[in-house]
Amino acid sequence: MNTDHFVLYENIKQCVTLAGVAKNSGRHPKEADLGVISDAAVVVNNQTNRIEWIGKNAELPTEFGDLAARFSCEEEVWLPELIECHTHLIYAGTRHHDFALRCLGKTYQQIASEGGGILSTLTHTRKASPGELLESASSELEHFQKYGVGTIEIKSGYGLSLESELRILKCIQELQHHTSVLLAPTFMPAHATPPEFKGQTDEYVKLICKEWIPEVAKNKLAVFFDAFVEEGYFSVEQARTMCEAALASGLKLKLHVDQFTNLGGASLAVDMGAISCDHLDNVGRESIQKLAESKTVAVLLPGASLFTGTPYPPARNLIDAGAIVALSTDYNPGTCPTRNLPLMTTIACCQMGMTIAESIAGITYNAAAALGLQKELGSLEMGKNFRVCQLKADSYEVLPYCFGELE
Ligand SMILES: [Zn+2]
Repeated sequence: MNTDHFVLYENIKQCVTLAGVAKNSGRHPKEADLGVISDAAVVVNNQTNRIEWIGKNAELPTEFGDLAARFSCEEEVWLPELIECHTHLIYAGTRHHDFALRCLGKTYQQIASEGGGILSTLTHTRKASPGELLESASSELEHFQKYGVGTIEIKSGYGLSLESELRILKCIQELQHHTSVLLAPTFMPAHATPPEFKGQTDEYVKLICKEWIPEVAKNKLAVFFDAFVEEGYFSVEQARTMCEAALASGLKLKLHVDQFTNLGGASLAVDMGAISCDHLDNVGRESIQKLAESKTVAVLLPGASLFTGTPYPPARNLIDAGAIVALSTDYNPGTCPTRNLPLMTTIACCQMGMTIAESIAGITYNAAAALGLQKELGSLEMGKNFRVCQLKADSYEVLPYCFGELE
């Protein structure tokens, strides 16, 4: 075997492989499924950036024993890179004043009617130039990287006109040329009905289906389509129409569902074969069972519940039923302005009754599954991509324990 391009990382204090989580497709993650190897070694093929071998240091095959390129990592705990599977990262304008008003007791509806809320972000985003959007997005991305994130999903949805939505998606495309972080773009024109279509949501849906989705798909600007299925936003029937158009154009589906009301969005997501359905704070019992029997990943966003003071999603019921559960920040300027993905594991463990194993699976393998990337990413196994999160720590348990202060 030609080993010229191989690199050996040895004496790794702990390597969290998640091999068992991968074997069980992310369902019912147990501590043993984390596949923790103490005093580990990893051999990487630098040409393909794939893991050639992984195991205990003491069991390193002799053909790798005298590799010239080698690094000793005795202070480090390794996990697969963290995967952020739900963000609204590209926008302009801040919403801290909305927060100040909320702290004074105003409701979201009152704030929106006084010019705040999503429409204020929309106004600022429409006015922003491509250069301004790119600069702001690059800086946001650096924050995520500091927290160990190596792959990130980014949605459009603060433009809500074809021209501004395309500008956002092109910004994601441009951003990919400037970063080592893997970006997964999502087209989300159904984030809200824009002001020019007030009272005419059906007309807006028709436009999205007939013109916008084909345009985005033709230019390969997005992998996923997403819609906010919620009372006062888009109905299950409107969402179904858009999902059908998106599938016909070759886009995969992700949906915002059952956040404030149990509208049946999760059930629709499963029926449509969506890759994920996200939020689920008010998901019903029947939908939980349906999710458990499907491959649709349940993406939970505990930061949004914390920040808006609303109930947490029923993580325990979902996991115990057998659903594949991932965690994400939902990073956005209105309801969750944090880029701290590790902090979501702390909230998940402390407020949603999740175990450490479940929370770690939620930001690695199961988050990869929520992007359809689990064959390449999300666990450290032979043949998989070499993308790791390196912690200066004694144990992987510090990840949820450290309250977001990851080193
Ligand atoms: Zn969202």
